[in-house]
Amino acid sequence: MSPIAVVGAGIIGVTIAFELQRRGRNVILIDKDAPGKGASYGNMASIAVTEFMPASRPSVWAQMPKWLLDPEGPVRVRPSYLPKLAPWFLRFLEASRPSRVRKLEAAGAVLCKRVYEDLDPLLQAAGLADMLSAEGCLSLYADDAEFKTDREHIEVLERFGFRHEILDGNAIRDLEPALATKIGRGVLFPDNRSVKDPYRLVVALSERFLSLGGGVEQGEVVGFDRAGDVVAGIRLKDGRVIKAAEVVLCAGAYTGRLSRLLGEPIPLETERGYHTQIMAPGVSMRHSIIWPARAFMVTPTAGGIRVGGTVEMAGLDAPPDYRRAKVLVKRAREALPDLTSEAATEWMGHRPALPDTVPVIGPSARHRGVFYATGHGHLGLTYAATTGRLIADLVTGATPPIDLTPYRVDRF
Ligand SMILES: Cc1cc2nc3c(=O)[nH]c(=O)nc-3n(C[C@H](O)[C@H](O)[C@H](O)COP(=O)(O)OP(=O)(O)OC[C@H]3O[C@@H](n4cnc5c(N)ncnc54)[C@H](O)[C@@H]3O)c2cc1C
Repeated sequence: MSPIAVVGAGIIGVTIAFELQRRGRNVILIDKDAPGKGASYGNMASIAVTEFMPASRPSVWAQMPKWLLDPEGPVRVRPSYLPKLAPWFLRFLEASRPSRVRKLEAAGAVLCKRVYEDLDPLLQAAGLADMLSAEGCLSLYADDAEFKTDREHIEVLERFGFRHEILDGNAIRDLEPALATKIGRGVLFPDNRSVKDPYRLVVALSERFLSLGGGVEQGEVVGFDRAGDVVAGIRLKDGRVIKAAEVVLCAGAYTGRLSRLLGEPIPLETERGYHTQIMAPGVSMRHSIIWPARAFMVTPTAGGIRVGGTVEMAGLDAPPDYRRAKVLVKRAREALPDLTSEAATEWMGHRPALPDTVPVIGPSARHRGVFYATGHGHLGLTYAATTGRLIADLVTGATPPIDLTPYRVDRF
């Protein structure tokens, strides 16, 4: 019998492939590159269960003009890309209606609530439990005024019952002595743990998948052979055709290009983000930190300290602008005065972003046996185990543990 083809070997694809193979199915994982070289390579490694709020929420709109006017601000739109961005942006606008924001928050919270229920067994099954750190994330505020600006975020977490602990400046420095004295307030999110190396996690999961008998094919998917409403084959750029009984499309920010080939457009954009990996940072930390007013994140990883963040809307094909990575390091030094940037590398990746922030997890509305797992935005690592479990349930005919209506592909 033809295998299940999983297209895209990022954290989402390898998790789905591993989960399906573990359930006794015959899976082939297809990627144009080696596994884990997309967005999953260099993300900020955070299992960010408290960051599910839609990007279209009112507090973001309130700050948007200030951000867009600041060339070093957290959001940048390349002017030449504006016309292409317009349809996505109109949907983003539509997702900012208060009633819609409430629904989107709930849809994100449902996924975040069950993250460890899915992630812990996945890591156990793969023998990778030691990849997860024990420490949470600290959110930093210079003073009460900054803290109040982020109050909406904390209120949403309170509404959905996510753990957090409000701290004063001294309590924060007891946890992380390297932090500057100008930090007057903080919130500890104990459940926002991090993985030690997100790229190694993808590689290790793909190795476990192979050891269970799964197959990996390197090749760029450029088309599909269709027989009625069924996809019978996957066309690769080098001319090969891979026969598949079922197809899961999880090619990150590129999934929109593939879904269009199937006549099922998904309004996916790339929210380009940057990191600087500092091998000799001059400071040591146990927790990851975010500073909402400065819009950066710092995570201790296996290979030194990673500083990252930012959103740049410039499409999939424009070259990186590493000035954005440098700004993040400059900001991080405000929190960590002794941070050096010796032996550092810079990186840019494509967050697969949907205008309503909620991922697509579910069957195609047009083709039998085709499934989508994409649009995980800022939370692909966080949602990976849950997405893997849900898609594996759908493909194998098991009943998923949650209602998948909010994540359907034809909601746009
Ligand atoms: C700076 C930054 C920081 C982030 N921090 C976090 C964080 O702390 N926590 C968190 O949860 N998430 C974070 N994210 C988001 C997270 O990295 C993504 O949501 C996640 O990696 C998406 O995984 P994916 O498997 O969908 O996509 P990808 O990892 O991009 O994988 C897609 C794969 O599809 C392949 N592909 C594409 N087109 C084709 C084709 N035509 N044929 C064959 N193969 C194809 C690509 O080669 C690639 O390997 C961050 C992202 C960035 C950029």
